[in-house]
Amino acid sequence: MSPPHDHPADAAHGHLEWPFFEPRHRALALDLERWAAREVRDRHGADVDADCRALVRALGAAGWLAHAVGGRAFGGAGDAIDTRAICILRETLARHNGLADFAFAMQGLGSGAISLAGSDAQKQSWLPRVARGDAISAFALSEPDAGSDVASMQCAARRDGDHYVLDGEKTWISNGGIADLYVVFARTGEAPGARGISAFIVEAGTPGFEIAERIEVIAPHPLARLRLDGCRIAAANRIGDAGEGFKVAMRTLDVFRTSVAAAALGFARRALEEGLARATGRRMFNGTLADFQLTQAKLAQMATTIDGAALLTYRAAWQRDCGRNVTREAAMAKMAATEGAQQVIDAAVQMWGGLGVKSGVAVERLYREIRALRIYEGATEVQQLIIARELLKGARS
Ligand SMILES: Cc1cc2nc3c(=O)[nH]c(=O)nc-3n(C[C@H](O)[C@H](O)[C@H](O)COP(=O)(O)OP(=O)(O)OC[C@H]3O[C@@H](n4cnc5c(N)ncnc54)[C@H](O)[C@@H]3O)c2cc1C
Repeated sequence: MSPPHDHPADAAHGHLEWPFFEPRHRALALDLERWAAREVRDRHGADVDADCRALVRALGAAGWLAHAVGGRAFGGAGDAIDTRAICILRETLARHNGLADFAFAMQGLGSGAISLAGSDAQKQSWLPRVARGDAISAFALSEPDAGSDVASMQCAARRDGDHYVLDGEKTWISNGGIADLYVVFARTGEAPGARGISAFIVEAGTPGFEIAERIEVIAPHPLARLRLDGCRIAAANRIGDAGEGFKVAMRTLDVFRTSVAAAALGFARRALEEGLARATGRRMFNGTLADFQLTQAKLAQMATTIDGAALLTYRAAWQRDCGRNVTREAAMAKMAATEGAQQVIDAAVQMWGGLGVKSGVAVERLYREIRALRIYEGATEVQQLIIARELLKGARS
């Protein structure tokens, strides 16, 4: 059977022939591939904030950010969030430039609660700006003492007439320091634990909201600890019903957890590309590195890990787009793709020898970029618990 679309016949695009995709996904992948190769591949400046702002603007101007928000009436590319499109975008951008993937993903994650549960007024006021790249968004869930155990969060929102007053801290907040829009999750106390949390829109510059600390990490991107100290916002800034914030956060993560797997897949594909280039180009022992079976075993393992991760990732994305529950599938995809990508990238670094650890070389960058993906949006151990819980539910019923 001939391919239904004119795709480059390389390892990074063969999977687009799988039945998970529709023609619009294949067209998107092809257009994006051309754009990303031309506009963002391996462009890394010294000022990460400026780079990130420029990438958000470029992604908005080219129309890619429209895929990060839901609803055509609000600047979105479709009527609902298309998980497969988001995954294709993240996979492709990550393969070319990790910060471009980050910039795209955060526009979606940061505004996801509004797309999924916001009022029309909230959508109208933020989503078109997020989709154009005119407003940068952030998702503020984690706290210094509530990371994996997010339901134990302490940040509080007290109702005061037509307002809420927020007090507490949020940390590890991506885009912290450069965002215009922060979706902040805080305890409103309708019930203990997860059922007493609500989601709020907090605009940068609101009195009582400040960046307490900028955090530097091994793969630089904007990141901060936030402080809310008597931060007064209109009650109309609450997203969804009071006490429903945890559900909103989990619905958002159902989309974006799968897309973390797609980003890991993009990093792993780039590592395989780099590994193949080095193996065939590096001369040694009267041949090339690729001539040795030990190298061929590495390459075979890398390619198989990547295909396994791709199958799990796009199964989860397709299943969500079909309107089915993906708790188990998204957790499997995230765990397998991030853990697998770490191994694939490590193998590529090994093939590059000394050059593999030289600052600025592609595989060295990938080695730093992949690490946090095994921790954020639910560490691997959390994904294991989710998968086991779902399995046991079935076994015990
Ligand atoms: C680069 C980066 C960007 C981030 N961006 C954001 C953001 O934009 N918004 C946001 O809200 N948060 C963000 N986070 C926070 C991230 O989601 C948390 O770091 C993550 O949830 C883990 O929480 P923690 O760091 O407090 O680790 P802890 O909860 O203290 O967990 C530490 C380790 O314990 C292990 N562990 C956890 N649970 C279990 C268990 N049940 N059994 C056994 N072992 C377990 C895991 O290995 C885990 O890594 C980001 C983090 C990083 C590193």
